[in-house]
Amino acid sequence: MGNRLSGKSAIVTGGNRGIGRAIAERLADEEATVIVGDLFDERPAPVSSVERLAFMPLDVTKEASVRTFVDAVLQKFGRIDVLVNNAGIVIHKSIDEQTIEDWDRLMAVNLRGPFLMAKYVVPEMRRIGSGTIVNIGSVEGYMVNPWHTAYAATKAGVHGLTLGLAVDLGPDGVRCNTVCPGWIETDLNRAYVELHPDRSLVERELAQLHPLGRIGSPKEIANTVLWLASDESNFVSGEMIAVDGARTKKISLPSILDEEYRAKLKKA
Ligand code: NDP
Repeated sequence: MGNRLSGKSAIVTGGNRGIGRAIAERLADEEATVIVGDLFDERPAPVSSVERLAFMPLDVTKEASVRTFVDAVLQKFGRIDVLVNNAGIVIHKSIDEQTIEDWDRLMAVNLRGPFLMAKYVVPEMRRIGSGTIVNIGSVEGYMVNPWHTAYAATKAGVHGLTLGLAVDLGPDGVRCNTVCPGWIETDLNRAYVELHPDRSLVERELAQLHPLGRIGSPKEIANTVLWLASDESNFVSGEMIAVDGARTKKISLPSILDEEYRAKLKKA
């Protein structure tokens, strides 16, 4: 498609499906060599049919796995210019139902993961004197769905990590930003939609929460990640960029007072 990342190597964690896969393919489209790190559940990592896309096993929660992964990437590809911390999980439970194991698991994948990845990738970025880290946070880092206390805490943590990395690594020529997706169609929240028996009703109502009248696609997150990974955003660091169809910009009204607006969205 283009050559905005020509000659660069990019890591995408959790890139085997969902938003991560779309990011990996988009970066490869722009001539980056992309290495997807994902769990692969003890199975061998698949061989990619997409040019410039490689898969390697990685568990972002485990320091030994992260170290081995980063060493293997450097050995095979020689450099790391872009790190996309995308791997993430969600748990829907009220605070009293949450176990310590639930809490620790979410923290380990969503927050310790990006920390460990940055810790092991940054020395290489320092060596080459440049680099860009793009975290996948969430609009739930500053607004919250019910039963998401732990998830929201991890995403707010990712936003804080972004600020810290941007400040600490700026002098090394390394940028760090976060993309905050709104409602994006993937397996992660499909389970949420399926909690209700009338799936199409849920989808219609979800669309109506967005001033743009629809939910988002993984590709739309990938396009923003591409911009942050490329030189086109060279003076942007420490930012949280919502990609959510303006959902978080609209103040909720009682639905009875919002009918005219909703009717307009239905027509769109
Ligand atoms: P998916 O569940 O579709 O994909 C998540 C990927 O992460 C999977 O490939 C999964 O592997 C991998 N993964 C999970 N744990 C680990 C781990 N320990 N080490 C390495 N990889 C791991 O999620 P999405 O694509 O929807 O979400 C991607 C990111 O976007 C997450 O950080 C999520 O919080 C964020 N996000 C998503 C939103 C949405 O609406 N979808 C909204 C806001 C933020 P496996 O297949 O083995 O489980």
